[in-house]
Amino acid sequence: MRTIHGLTALSTLLAACGAASPDAEQTRWLKGNTHTHTLWSDGDGAPEQVAAWYADNGYQFLVLSDHNTYQDHERWFPVAEDGVGRLKPSEVDALITRFGAQSVDLRGEPGDREMRLRTLDELKAQVEVTPTGGAGGFLLLPGEEVTSSFQGKPVHINAVNTDGVLPALERASIVELMTDTMRSIEEAGAASGRPVFGHLNHPNFGWGVTWEEVAAVKEDRFFEVYNGHRSTRNEGDSEHPSTEDLWDRALARRLGELGGLPLLYGVATDDAHHYYGNLTSPTGRGWVMVRATSLDRDAVTEAMNRGDFYASSGVTLKDLEVSDEAYRLEVEADEGVTYRIRFIGTRQLDGALGTVGEELAATDGPAAEYRFKGDELYVRAQVTSSRLHPKPYLEGDREMAWTQPATPSAR
Ligand SMILES: [Zn+2]
Ligand SMILES: [Zn+2]
Repeated sequence: MRTIHGLTALSTLLAACGAASPDAEQTRWLKGNTHTHTLWSDGDGAPEQVAAWYADNGYQFLVLSDHNTYQDHERWFPVAEDGVGRLKPSEVDALITRFGAQSVDLRGEPGDREMRLRTLDELKAQVEVTPTGGAGGFLLLPGEEVTSSFQGKPVHINAVNTDGVLPALERASIVELMTDTMRSIEEAGAASGRPVFGHLNHPNFGWGVTWEEVAAVKEDRFFEVYNGHRSTRNEGDSEHPSTEDLWDRALARRLGELGGLPLLYGVATDDAHHYYGNLTSPTGRGWVMVRATSLDRDAVTEAMNRGDFYASSGVTLKDLEVSDEAYRLEVEADEGVTYRIRFIGTRQLDGALGTVGEELAATDGPAAEYRFKGDELYVRAQVTSSRLHPKPYLEGDREMAWTQPATPSAR
């Protein structure tokens, strides 16, 4: 068993049944969302309501990634008694019912009230759950969406497992802006002594970040291949690649033409802003499944830094293993549902780049294996289910999963 360029090869047995094989570390799969908003920035849900939704719906961790802020100070939010505004009286009543009057601080006279937003420490005390017997549990990871722009183009980067607000930056180019934001996240990690990472959000939102720019920033090791907000244009258009095409182009350039740049991992997120029925960016559209040693902020972050996770909009994997010879995966198949597994990569043939994002193999069924030939710059897998997504980003979307690129050890 060995680590192959970021992906950990673990035994099939371990992943399949959740039990530790004798030579493998005890790990478990954790479901999490690293991109969510609350009343602390432009979400429409109180932070405790948002966190409780994820805790109640099978997630083990969540990052409340509000724009350019941390939930660490006193902040009073107006109650929209006149019906205009994001915090409605009926929602305040629902918070009191759910969490108790002692957990909802209000001030001001009827008609002119404000509610204090819960801080991350208060939220942790309210919603976190300790796992029992190695199962369940719920954890809030600190983080934020560092929200900058360059000449009107959005450059949004989520900082995960960082403890204090990082400034939005102004730089002379998108590449410099991304590079320095990623560096500031790494510096925050070095200062705290904790593992951290940044992920580039929704590159196609406002056509903000091109694939060439993503490829060029070696400090960027993560990006959103799937963002659940309907304004983010994951699908691209006639002039812009989809986020999945962008991924292949950036990987091919990083590994083939530039050489020596790190792999780029794909995350799926909700980027949820809407908790009251608006389907623009609801909860539960996209998430990550992380194979970590424990439900702990550093362990989760370390596992993601190793690339030991996959992105999902509904498909769950039973097994995921990359060895020296092959890339294998098996879907946790549901009855009556079919799956198509595609291995996608880019090869380098006689020193020249082959077709970027080529389908190397495809299987109809819940399990597949791709044996490396040695000429692949990287190989990744995409799983598409026959089941429709219950809360689709685009009407007709199927549930999917995207696993991380791996480089054959022979290279
Ligand atoms: Zn954003
Ligand atoms: Zn966002």
